Amino acid sequence: QPELVDVAIIGAGAAGLMCAAEAAKKGLTVVLLDHAKQAGKKILISGGGRCNFTNYYVEPNAYLSANPHFCKSALSRYTQWDFIALVDKHQIPYHEKTLGQLFCDDSAKDIVNMLLSECQQAGAEIRLRTAIEQVDFANERYQLTTSTGVLSASKLVIATGGLSMPKLGATSFGFDIARQFGLQVLPTRAGLVPFTLQPADKACFESISGVSAPTVIESLAGVSFKENLLFTHRGLSGPAVLQISSYWQEGEAILINLLPDHNDEQWLLNERHKNGERTIKTVLSEVLAKRVAEQWLGHQQVDNKPLKQFDDKQLLALAQRLARWPIKPSGTEGYRTAEVTLGGVDTNELSSKTMESKKQPGLYFIGEVVDVTGWLGGYNFQWAWSSGWACAQAL
Ligand code: FAD
Repeated sequence: QPELVDVAIIGAGAAGLMCAAEAAKKGLTVVLLDHAKQAGKKILISGGGRCNFTNYYVEPNAYLSANPHFCKSALSRYTQWDFIALVDKHQIPYHEKTLGQLFCDDSAKDIVNMLLSECQQAGAEIRLRTAIEQVDFANERYQLTTSTGVLSASKLVIATGGLSMPKLGATSFGFDIARQFGLQVLPTRAGLVPFTLQPADKACFESISGVSAPTVIESLAGVSFKENLLFTHRGLSGPAVLQISSYWQEGEAILINLLPDHNDEQWLLNERHKNGERTIKTVLSEVLAKRVAEQWLGHQQVDNKPLKQFDDKQLLALAQRLARWPIKPSGTEGYRTAEVTLGGVDTNELSSKTMESKKQPGLYFIGEVVDVTGWLGGYNFQWAWSSGWACAQAL
């Protein structure tokens, strides 16, 4: 005889843990299953081990989705302030790092322990090291054949996340279940991921790997982020690059403004007027890290000569190039290092209020498995909390 429960949730990550605790608080019998040996592994490694758990400035336009309106309902019903109140209730110390990003003072473990304690207090049971072998639907119930027994649930919630970081246990399980029940899954790709460079560009910049620079990076579609860029031995990373990667399509160039605070196109002409004996490298080294200036000039095949030997047109062109430097990545580092997966279960298939499938009653999708992807900065966890909470209210 299968074990009977009200709710089975697959995936004990951010969204699954939130949903399990909230559903159990309503008095439902809840079992949360995961194949991993530990719950919330991604939370533990997130934010460099300090978990950037939300952001003061959460708003719908910080999310990418084929339907930009879909995320609004859940985000407005369970907000960053609700999650912050939970963190406060558990007396977890935190701070704002930059741009509204909230991090634990001590460790991401605080967030996982908080969620585990919420689950435990509410009576949600967590079963780890449990592989899901088969899911069937009959007589309005979901039968789950697992490595630890057979479960029969009247509601099934899929919270298995995206494809990023397969080493941490990411699988396509959620997309497979969606397809099994006839739901559309939009194409997926790696997001918040470093770029790799074409061989010639890589050869030029790998000598400055580890150097970072403040930039504004813009996608061809005109989306831009003002944050740091980091040169790496494989290509480009840093927050500005991770952010723009989610808006980048294979084969496109990105535009890098290496001097976001020099708006005046005439500035090199003015420098020449001040003192034309200085070389271009000397002048650029005053506004850029010296090694960046050096490598960049080499990359652009600009001879290092005194400013007075450049004419107006050349100096204007150089200033424009520094402000809009187009570079075409060869690709991204892919799911291996991506923080998130773009695309996923088509939001047209789901209710934005409850996360329930419109076609398949009793089947819900929450968190990253859904085609809602946030910016870097705590937005992805907030989506996990909000969608998990919204789903739980409807169970
Ligand atoms: P997950 O948290 O990924 O949980 C999915 C769970 O499902 C996992 O426990 C997994 O073991 C389980 N699972 C998967 N397949 C199966 C299967 N077949 N059977 C059983 N169980 C399965 N976001 C932020 O907002 N702030 C950050 O600071 C941040 N830092 C990050 C750092 C890194 C390195 C990475 C990779 C991501 C980071 N993110 C961050 C993104 C964030 O971690 C995710 O968006 C978020 O965890 C998604 O929550 P989820 O519950 O949907 O999925």
